[in-house]
Amino acid sequence: TELSSLILDRIRDVPDYPQPGVLFKDITPLLADPVAFDAVIEELAGLYEVDKIVGIEARGFILAAPTAVRAGAGFVPVRKKGKLPSETLEASYDLEYGSATIEVHRDAFVPGERVLIVDDVLATGGTARAAVELVRRAGADVVAVAVLMELAFLKGRERLTDVELHTLVVV
Ligand code: IMP
Repeated sequence: TELSSLILDRIRDVPDYPQPGVLFKDITPLLADPVAFDAVIEELAGLYEVDKIVGIEARGFILAAPTAVRAGAGFVPVRKKGKLPSETLEASYDLEYGSATIEVHRDAFVPGERVLIVDDVLATGGTARAAVELVRRAGADVVAVAVLMELAFLKGRERLTDVELHTLVVV
């Protein structure tokens, strides 16, 4: 479609970042193009009727916050451990080497609120999986996870079988 080429033409492949052997998908050219950025936000904002949109630190924030404003929903940050000031819930997940912990404020949602989780890239799915668990434990209803780009060869989708996953482009 027109939107997928708008996106794909503005994603830069950076070899060996952040470590040798990884081909990093850099979304900064897309963000720098106001027409393409706006089209992405417009698309994300129209997908679901939700009360809150969750952005995952850090690139998820860049997409989730304007999407929330456009959709008339609230924005909620999911952050790396130690960054949120008030009482939090946390979830940990395994990385290739070691593990990571993300947090959300305990009182970020009214029980039963409908939530869309937004991030830039779905790779192994560990981050999105942990975010889904976190938002559910905080009492909200995860309507879907939406990502700009899905790296299909890493099979992240297989870790999200209990939630709707919407991806704007699959590579
Ligand atoms: P996962 O947990 O393996 O699915 O990795 C997804 C997380 O890592 C997301 O929060 C992404 O922002 C980030 N990420 C992984 N690979 C890339 C990439 O190629 N480009 C941009 N972000 C990436």
